[in-house]
Amino acid sequence: MPDSLVIRNLHASVGERPILKNFSLTVPKGEVHAIMGPNGTGKSTLAKVLAGHPDYVVQSGDALVDGQPILGLEPDVVARAGLFLAFQYPSEIPGVTIANFIRAALVARQAKGAPFDAKAYYAELYAKMDALKMDRKFTSRFVNEGFSGGEKKRCEILQLMMLKPRYAVLDETDSGLDIDALRIVSEGVNAMRGPDTGFLVITHYQRLLDHIVPDRVHIMWDGQIVHSGGKELALELEEKGYDWVKKELAHA
Ligand code: ADP
Ligand code: MG
Repeated sequence: MPDSLVIRNLHASVGERPILKNFSLTVPKGEVHAIMGPNGTGKSTLAKVLAGHPDYVVQSGDALVDGQPILGLEPDVVARAGLFLAFQYPSEIPGVTIANFIRAALVARQAKGAPFDAKAYYAELYAKMDALKMDRKFTSRFVNEGFSGGEKKRCEILQLMMLKPRYAVLDETDSGLDIDALRIVSEGVNAMRGPDTGFLVITHYQRLLDHIVPDRVHIMWDGQIVHSGGKELALELEEKGYDWVKKELAHA
């Protein structure tokens, strides 16, 4: 499918241990899909495999961004292909300010030698920081260094809003956020929803999906999607817990 993020029959392991087991999912551009699943089921592994993290080995399968295969490519090439990943535990980058970090990411995406409009850049950066209720002083702080959990997540969403990728994978963006921060971050994501962007929102809890209402919900269990449905599936999970999935699988 050309206008989609496609993950097809993906098998991946960490060390000798298989984590993703025939994982398949398609996120069409313009849609918001959620993956829910218990801890340890491989949700973060999926995000890291897509990012080309060196700890994870892909045995077989594909991942395509609008038809372009991305597995095995360098992270900057994956970013240029249009995929953005926000991690559950964002890394600190001492010595690199947020403003310079996002600027470098934007410049890297431009044609070589093309001029960069710094004035427009800062105007947009400040507007988006205001929307996320981030203090201006954050622009000169080093990326994620000494940030609280919530500040890290806001910083990830700021990057997302500035980079405007074709597809964004958000891994537990709700963790570490209080209810106000959750609302602000969700508003940021919701403002970006539209025909040009696809979202894959990974979460353990249903509460994020009260704010970012998904088009589709997928349940992940032991390295693969075992059940898919509409947004009401998230509520069902919240009500019945994951044991229900386990029982259903045992009878399948
Ligand atoms: P989830 O995000 O769904 O909670 P993860 O993808 O983080 O799950 O983890 C899936 C399984 O893989 C867990 O059992 C975890 O301990 C293991 N795992 C993930 N990353 C590593 C790693 N770098 N080294 C060893 N084990 C890992
Ligand atoms: Mg995780």
